[in-house]
Amino acid sequence: MSDAFGTHFLERLQRLLGPGGVITELDEMARHVEEPRRRYHRRPLAVVRPASTQQVAAVVAHCREAGVAIVPQGGNTGLVGGQSVGGSGREVILSLERMREIRDIDAEGASLVVEAGCTLARVQEAAASAGLLFPMSLASEGTATIGGNIATNAGGHLTVRYGNMRQQVLGLEVVLADGRILDGLTVLRKDNSGYDLNQLFIGSEGTLGIITAASLQMVSAPRQSLTGLIAIDSLEHAVVLLRLLRHQLGETISALELMPRLALDFVLEYLPDVHDPLVRPHPWYLLLQADTALAGDWLQGACVKALERGSDEGVTTDAIVAGSDAQAQLLWRLRESISPAQKMGGASLKHDISVPVAAIPEFVETTSRALADTVPGIRPCVFGHVGDGNLHFNLSQPEDMTAEAFHAFEADCNRIVFDQVVRFRGSIAAEHGIGQLRAAELAARADSVRLDTMARLKSCLDPDELLNPGKVLIGKMPP
Ligand code: FAD
Repeated sequence: MSDAFGTHFLERLQRLLGPGGVITELDEMARHVEEPRRRYHRRPLAVVRPASTQQVAAVVAHCREAGVAIVPQGGNTGLVGGQSVGGSGREVILSLERMREIRDIDAEGASLVVEAGCTLARVQEAAASAGLLFPMSLASEGTATIGGNIATNAGGHLTVRYGNMRQQVLGLEVVLADGRILDGLTVLRKDNSGYDLNQLFIGSEGTLGIITAASLQMVSAPRQSLTGLIAIDSLEHAVVLLRLLRHQLGETISALELMPRLALDFVLEYLPDVHDPLVRPHPWYLLLQADTALAGDWLQGACVKALERGSDEGVTTDAIVAGSDAQAQLLWRLRESISPAQKMGGASLKHDISVPVAAIPEFVETTSRALADTVPGIRPCVFGHVGDGNLHFNLSQPEDMTAEAFHAFEADCNRIVFDQVVRFRGSIAAEHGIGQLRAAELAARADSVRLDTMARLKSCLDPDELLNPGKVLIGKMPP
């Protein structure tokens, strides 16, 4: 972009958005440029910060006229580089951070309407203030925004009960690539009057439109809760136990998280004030959370009975049920600390995948074996939301290898893990999305009819590739 044109472009943006609306200084832009995995660092022409839907529409129209691409950004907690600029040199980051109003809360209708830049934590608090629950929880919830959660169709540990973000969305307000505003902010639970356009934008990672507001559903708040840590000897036992727990506890199961011993070892080293909650080490653990909105004090008894049944059937080896909120928080802290603790344990290669739950034991076994054949001493640290089949198949470096030498195996390890995922009819991107990081993998591995249908949708809604180019879909778009 020539200097004169660039200056004119930025001056016009500044006039459209007023004071604080456009950032061009490098140090002020840093928090929008650095992303959690530190893989993508490119600098945009500017970070633009519209404060209203109309301003978003005006920015889109201006960028379209100037041929400048837009990278939508929420809390910048994405893990696949979708919120970072690509390589064209003609991109702005459009941050929704100034759009964080809660427009409406309807306790009777159990719905709320919020702007895209509201953090997930703020939406949870708003729901709690209405005596309800917003059923989504991520470790990044203090920073991640509702717009980002919708654009990535975020998951998290409550998915096993309440589904992904998709299930929480009733309606969306979206600025399209041509600058028009699509107002779909309904709070209706039933509306079959034509195609459900909301679904197009959920999980589209900023490539089809800019989400400016959303109407969301809330659910009844729990009156009884229980958290427990269950030790198991094998993943085969984990699958049997999942079925047994579902049978015994039904829809009260809100989270079922898998942790291997290696993860607990990392965490116990990382959190100096924490001890192993069980008396001896076990190969695997399941973290269980059960809740019910029904009154009474029967949930604990039902859980204990379910665990006794697991022990009688020989699928659990030990278990502990939290006796207080503080103990429950401690058990969750073990789970939430795995990622930072693993980082302290050296270099790692991460894969956010899913496979059918029943296939998990064979998938983990065959994939781990193939990895060990290629990188002797590699340490798979497989954990995650096992209740819905989503595993973080993270690989820690062998203890006798340097980080640099281990990173040289990244392409081999990715190929092994993703080949196995495809063999088991799983997904190479279970909850974090495709972004830049997995775009080439998707192009290489997805069914050609699916890719072609996605590309046609993209060229229909964004023919000039103005929105988040180089993310999700790469290669030539159909005419
Ligand atoms: P950003 O990172 O800013 O953007 C993510 C993508 O959405 C980009 O492609 C961006 O262009 C697009 N986007 C953002 N806002 C909009 C908008 N308003 N309109 C259109 N497109 C938009 N994810 C999970 O699913 N489950 C987890 O359990 C989970 N745990 C995490 C834990 C940690 C510690 C961290 C750092 C991340 C975790 N994530 C998890 C990933 C991340 O938090 C989610 O993907 C989250 O939904 C991203 O929200 P964000 O506002 O930060 O979006």
